[in-house]
Amino acid sequence: MKRARAGAVPVLSATMPDSKAVDALYGLEPVYEPGEGGGANPTEFVAVTCPYCGESFDTQIDLSAGTFSYIEDCQVCCQPIELAGETDDSGALTAVTASRVG
Ligand SMILES: [Zn+2]
Repeated sequence: MKRARAGAVPVLSATMPDSKAVDALYGLEPVYEPGEGGGANPTEFVAVTCPYCGESFDTQIDLSAGTFSYIEDCQVCCQPIELAGETDDSGALTAVTASRVG
C-alpha cells in the first residue's frame, strides 16, 4: 500500500473571496453606454501605414463580425495590403495590423 504524504494534496477548490466585489463592480458602474455608437455603428476609420510605400491613410473597416482580416489596396501606391484586426468583448477595436500579401 502506498503512503500518501499528508499535505501533498493540491488544493483545487480555491475560494473566490472577491466574487461579491466583482458583482458590486458590475452593478455599480454600467460600462454599456447606449447612444454612443456601441454596436449601432459597426464600422470605424483607422489610420494604417502601407507596408510597401510607407504612406499612411485612413480606411474604413467593418467591425460587425469582430476579429477581421481582408485585403485592401493601398490608396497611395495601389498595392494589396492585408488588414487584420481584433476587437474586445464590447466590440471596440483593439489592434490593427497591415502587412504585405504573399
Ligand atoms: Zn502604398
